[in-house]
Amino acid sequence: AMYTAKERQSGVEVYDPAADGHDRGRLVLLSEFRRALAQGDLVVHFQPKVALATGAVTGVEALVRWAHPTRGLLGPGEFVPAVERTGLIEPLTDRVLDLALAQARAWAAQGLEVPVAVNLSARSVHRGDLPDRVLAALAGHGVPAGMLCLELTETALLTEPERARDVLTRLRAAGIRISIDDFGTGYSSMGRIRHLPVDEIKIDRSYVAALAECAEDAALVRSAIDLGHRLGLTVVAEGVEDDGTAASLQALGCDVGQGYLFGRPLPADELTRWLTGRRPAALPG
Ligand code: C2E
Ligand code: MG
Ligand code: MG
Ligand code: MG
Repeated sequence: AMYTAKERQSGVEVYDPAADGHDRGRLVLLSEFRRALAQGDLVVHFQPKVALATGAVTGVEALVRWAHPTRGLLGPGEFVPAVERTGLIEPLTDRVLDLALAQARAWAAQGLEVPVAVNLSARSVHRGDLPDRVLAALAGHGVPAGMLCLELTETALLTEPERARDVLTRLRAAGIRISIDDFGTGYSSMGRIRHLPVDEIKIDRSYVAALAECAEDAALVRSAIDLGHRLGLTVVAEGVEDDGTAASLQALGCDVGQGYLFGRPLPADELTRWLTGRRPAALPG
C-alpha cells in the first residue's frame, strides 16, 4: 500500500517515487479536485423520493457532480472513490451539505417543503466533529434539522461501529434523519441493524432491478421490507425504472421509491419545475 494507516487517517498525501501511472493519474485528479473546491466547480443534482402509495414527493437526494473545465460533467463514480481516500472528503461533504441546504432554504422560501438527503462517505461517519459541522450548516442556512436526512452505507457502520453509533446518535438526537444506503450489499445482520440509530433503509438497486424476474431477488426485497417495518423504519427502494417494479414494490408494502421511473437526478431549477408541475397545490399563493 502507498500509505501507512496513520497517513491515511491524517489525510496527508505522500508522493511515492515508485508510484505507477495510475497513482500519478490519481494525484493529478486530486490536485484538480482541490482547485474545483476552491473555484466552486462542484454542483449537486437532485433526485426525488416518491411515496409509492400516493405519488407524493417525500424528499430529494443530493448527488454530487463535478463541472470539470475540460472533461465535462463528471459523476461521483469518477472522483469520489479517490477523494474518499484523502482528507479532501471532508470539504466535499461540507460543500455538498452547503449546496443542498441552500437549495432546501430556497425551496422553503417558494413554499415548497422539500426534505433533502445528503450522502456521507464511510470515513465521515467516524469523525467526532461531524455532528457539529452538520448542525452549523443547518443553523447557517436556517434549515430545521428535520429537513435533513443523511445517507450512509452499511460498510460505514461495520468499521468502528461504536464510534459510528456515537456520531449517529448525536445527529439523530438533533432531529436529523439517518438512512442506510445500498441496503443488502453489506453484511448487516438483523441483530446489528436493530441497535443502530437509524430511521430508513434503502434497498440497493441491484435487488430492485430484477424484482419481477428473479425469485431470489424478490425474496430478498420482501424480507428487507419486513425487517425494516418490524424495526419501525421507512423502507425505500432505489433504482425503480418501470411501472411493473413500482407495482410489485407497492404490493410488498414498500413505502418509498426512487429511480428513473419517477425522475432522474436533475439540476435544482429543473427539479423545481418538476416539483411545481407535479404538485400545483404546493405552489405559493
Ligand atoms: P447512491 O447514493 O446509492 O445514489 C444512487 C445512484 O443511482 C445515483 O448515481 C443515481 O443517479 C443512480 N440512479 C438513480 N435512479 C436510478 C435508476 O432508476 N437506475 C439506475 N441505473 N441508476 C439510478 P450517481 O449520482 O452516479 O451516484 C453514485 C454514488 O455516488 C451514490 O450512490 C453515492 O454513493 C455516491 N455519491 C453521490 N453523491 C455523493 C456525495 O455528495 N458524497 C458522497 N460521499 N458520495 C456521493
Ligand atoms: Mg444515496
Ligand atoms: Mg443508494
Ligand atoms: Mg446505490
